[in-house]
Amino acid sequence: MKTALVCGAGGFIGGHLVYRLKKEGYRVRAVDIKSPEFRETAADEFILGDLRDPVFCDRIASGMHFDELYQLAADMGGAGYIFSGEHDAIVMHNSATINLNMAECAHRHHIDKVFYSSSACIYPETLQREAFNGGLKESDAYPAGPDSEYGWEKLFSERMWFSYARNYGIDVHIARFHNIFGPYGTWQGGREKAPAAMCRKVAECPDGGTIDIWGDGEQTRTFLYIDECLEGIRRLMQSEFTGPVNIGSDELISINNLAGMAMEFAGKKIHLHHVSGPLGVRGRSSDNTLIRKKLNWSPSRPLIEGMRVTYEWIAGEVAKNV
Ligand code: NAD
Repeated sequence: MKTALVCGAGGFIGGHLVYRLKKEGYRVRAVDIKSPEFRETAADEFILGDLRDPVFCDRIASGMHFDELYQLAADMGGAGYIFSGEHDAIVMHNSATINLNMAECAHRHHIDKVFYSSSACIYPETLQREAFNGGLKESDAYPAGPDSEYGWEKLFSERMWFSYARNYGIDVHIARFHNIFGPYGTWQGGREKAPAAMCRKVAECPDGGTIDIWGDGEQTRTFLYIDECLEGIRRLMQSEFTGPVNIGSDELISINNLAGMAMEFAGKKIHLHHVSGPLGVRGRSSDNTLIRKKLNWSPSRPLIEGMRVTYEWIAGEVAKNV
């Protein structure tokens, strides 16, 4: 039986990844500073603790040998958290410390294979000033110029993990996720991403009411459903290819149209009220040429399918909270 250590398993993607690894027959030790919020973990063991503490990191890697480490823990949130500037110091400090600790831990405990989750936020802001840019290619990362400290930390950690690969022979695989969404993710409280925020606002709003949209709503993104993200992670880990590689969709949509999609599911007509708020870049899409070439696969599921599932789940959560 293969063994995996999953860091960040109390979170959205890590929580889903544990289910996927269990389905594939892994023995999983899961770690996070918080328990999963929306459903039980599927892990064999769930250890609560702070990955900023190197002693704790040493403890979670002890007692058994791990074939693979999945490092997804990060101080993280949607635009309201990442782009306001108010959390820059803690985001950089917390996430960099976790990565430094876990890289050292993988080295000392001879965990030979590692997955690290980077982000589309590493790409230069100058390439994302229009709503419709060509997709971002992996080679666009340099010369570097991310628009957030969150992105700079991811870029640092990519380089740090690859340094451990070069000098200590760890087989490190890195993906740059582009806006992953789906059920069992944060949908309120300020750290939620646009798909969850749109679903929540529409679910909470009466027919004929009004919801706030940050900016003019014509900013664009691509959004990838969680199942395809997991497929990409597993294919990358089973391949010789180390990345960094985009795991994202190339189906571009504006935030106004994303809200419109949620309204269709709800069968409601809702007015959009455009207000100022943290926006991030104007337009961002994933170029999937490299993943297709290296993994002979790329995400293909239409956005509307994943959004429908997500809307149903969030509408159910909203109803429970009334
Ligand atoms: P998430 O916030 O749901 O999960 C991250 C988890 O890390 C959380 O459960 C959090 O409690 C945990 N964590 C934070 N600090 C910790 C600490 N000190 N000790 C232990 N655990 C700690 O986020 P997610 O959406 O599941 O993202 C997972 C990874 O993918 C992150 O590294 C994120 O930066 C990256 N990523 C996500 C997206 C996306 O769209 N969701 C896009 C790009 C990159």
